[in-house]
Amino acid sequence: MDDRLFRNAMGKFATGVTVVATEVDGKAHGMTANAFMSVSLNPKLVVISIAEKASMLEKIKKSNTFSVNILSADQQELSMIFAGQLKEHREVVFDRLGGVPVIAGALAQAACEVTATHVEGDHTLFIGRVIEISVEESNADPLIYFSGKYRSLSE
Ligand code: FAD
Ligand code: NAD
Repeated sequence: MDDRLFRNAMGKFATGVTVVATEVDGKAHGMTANAFMSVSLNPKLVVISIAEKASMLEKIKKSNTFSVNILSADQQELSMIFAGQLKEHREVVFDRLGGVPVIAGALAQAACEVTATHVEGDHTLFIGRVIEISVEESNADPLIYFSGKYRSLSE
């Protein structure tokens, strides 16, 4: 099967957009990710899927912690920064939650510790136990990703 056909099909699944963040040797690193899912309520678990070529992979293996930050509609630029889609480097200041770097102004932030790792094909799934969580009270809209484009919710 052609890669493009697979990606075109998977792109029809509209998702939110997250930035996954971690810290190694006092340096925060972020990566845009839409392969994110809530897994279990008791215990509270989430899963993220990180490509073998992503530098985030070794960083999470080292730190054993990560945060998932669900972006709001006005945070598209942050998504582009952490997907390497902007040419120039932008400084991003992280907040902290449970000792993990998080993105200020995200709709929700979950700080997680890795409880299991599964290598599947060219990605690694990290199961994270949520140790702290924070939800934005503003009712702002989420950033949406569909068919390879950023979108927004409409009534
Ligand atoms: P790099 O390419 O080194 O970093 C990514 C970018 O973030 C760089 O431009 C870097 O300068 C910037 N950056 C990192 N840390 C900081 C910091 N502290 N301050 C300022 N800038 C910083 N890939 C997956 O593996 N899984 C997914 O689920 C996934 N979903 C995606 C969803 C969308 C909507 C998009 C657009 C891309 C997605 N990707 C996903 C691809 C992934 O975001 C990119 O391949 C990314 O560039 C890989 O990052 P990296 O860890 O290799 O780090
Ligand atoms: P695209 O058309 O490449 O992606 C559409 C959908 O295909 C994505 O939402 C995802 O579900 C799937 N997909 C894409 N690349 C994948 C990969 N390497 N492994 C597993 N599933 C993948 O969308 P785009 O806007 O051109 O993406 C921008 C860049 O971000 C591309 O380089 C793409 O590979 C990467 N990306 C990676 C993932 C991922 O690794 N899970 C997810 C989304 C985007």
